[in-house]
Amino acid sequence: MKMSIGGKPAEACDKTVIEIVNPATGKVIDTVPNAGAEDVAIAVEHAQSAQKEWAKVPVHQRATILRRFLALVEENKEELARTLSAETGKPIKEARAEIGNIFIGFEAFIEKGKHLYSDVIPHGIEAGQEKTIQFTLREPIGVVACIIPFNFPCDLFDQKVAPTLMAGNAAIVKPPHQNPLTLVRLTELMIEAGVTGGAIQIITGEGPKAGAALTAHPEVHKITFTGSTAVGIETAKAAASHLAHISLELGGNDAFIVHEDADVDLAVEEMIWGRMYNCGQVCCASKRFLVHNRVRDEFVRKASQRMKEIKVGTPDNEQTQIACLVTESAAQRVEEQVNKTVEQGGKIVLGGKRNGAFYEPTILNDIPKSADVAKDMEIFGPVVSVIGFDTIEEAIEIANASKYGLAGCIFSSNMKTAMKVATSLECGSVVINGASFYRSFEMPFGGYKYSGLGTEGVLSTYAEVTRTKTVVLKDILA
Ligand code: NAD
Repeated sequence: MKMSIGGKPAEACDKTVIEIVNPATGKVIDTVPNAGAEDVAIAVEHAQSAQKEWAKVPVHQRATILRRFLALVEENKEELARTLSAETGKPIKEARAEIGNIFIGFEAFIEKGKHLYSDVIPHGIEAGQEKTIQFTLREPIGVVACIIPFNFPCDLFDQKVAPTLMAGNAAIVKPPHQNPLTLVRLTELMIEAGVTGGAIQIITGEGPKAGAALTAHPEVHKITFTGSTAVGIETAKAAASHLAHISLELGGNDAFIVHEDADVDLAVEEMIWGRMYNCGQVCCASKRFLVHNRVRDEFVRKASQRMKEIKVGTPDNEQTQIACLVTESAAQRVEEQVNKTVEQGGKIVLGGKRNGAFYEPTILNDIPKSADVAKDMEIFGPVVSVIGFDTIEEAIEIANASKYGLAGCIFSSNMKTAMKVATSLECGSVVINGASFYRSFEMPFGGYKYSGLGTEGVLSTYAEVTRTKTVVLKDILA
């Protein structure tokens, strides 16, 4: 596949490509250009002029064009889901669900984008302003770099591109290098639907090459980045050099707290959803299972039984519930992290083996709270790391000992206990009696501490992709 630059298919200036591999089979399924600084410079130039054209398109027409894009997605949805499944290793059912989310996400941002109102500051509120009226306008921010991780490329495309375009900006998408194909196709469909060519572009390639050139470009006015904390910090440094606005949605090591009065069966079901989905490669997956020592044996026994029932298979099989990780090296990393946790005192109760890019659903029990996984080691795989506690205060202390603060959850039948935990956890969202893996398009999703800066969602993104101008009608009143 090719990139889309200035509305046309494009190769990299130096003609280099990267291979896209199906992680389940190890076979190369396609190639994409491996763009560099020269390609980025061309795209930014197109974006600057196209943004001015796109901003002139009335908001209601932008909405019509984006709805035309949704009609094209509808026509192509099975092909898109198959591409996403093959390049990411997602079970086909999960890939279809992610393509289905495009309609929900875009519709929500289209509706909200049609009703962005401003403020009027009436005369006479402040001394000296008796005859003056002030009002605010929201203006596009300009060229927005949308940097997207591998785990939910379409969901993050929805979260970033829909509000960016509805607000009259130009978007330059940097897809993940492992699995860019579905986003390349979505970009083509947007151009076919009528989005001004240079207002939606996609630059493929390696992060440190194409991504770094994009974040460093002085005419990129806003960077919305989702990915690892390490790259997020690099992005913030690059943005600072030219004062670009930034939003950072980063890593997490969410606590899943099961108190002694919890419904353990419910907690086990939510663990399956909150830890096994997408083979555990979810930013807000529950990753540290803090279980009261009085119910820990029961939780581990029931979790083990339930995890044995999960159908592991190839991504394209309709029955598959868990497939492989995004690459073999991602699975090797999980293997190393599990081995490290065992060295630090954890005991493997279930699973613990790797085969290529496949890693077995795994439970580790008896993990001491001093272990790396109990604090800052984010395992991006289907691994349930269980740490015991004796009091709810101890659980809160372990949960907050992490440098991360994306999300968290508490299982308890006592709402006072649940609310105490919800208000004590240092993180951006807390789910009561459900896994921390909860992200609606509407909610302001974002992390505390090393999990991010700013929030993303229908409620908050428009403030992040627009600038506020105040117009002063000085002494307008008689
Ligand atoms: P990553 O940081 O390796 O890559 C993310 C994106 O950044 C990719 O497009 C990559 O090509 C690009 N990139 C890499 N190096 C770059 C550089 N030097 N300059 C600019 N861009 C660069 O992350 P990943 O492995 O794709 O995703 C997994 C991580 O993302 C996990 O830590 C996960 O928790 C986090 N994540 C967070 C959220 C959230 O909303 N908080 C959502 C999904 C994933």
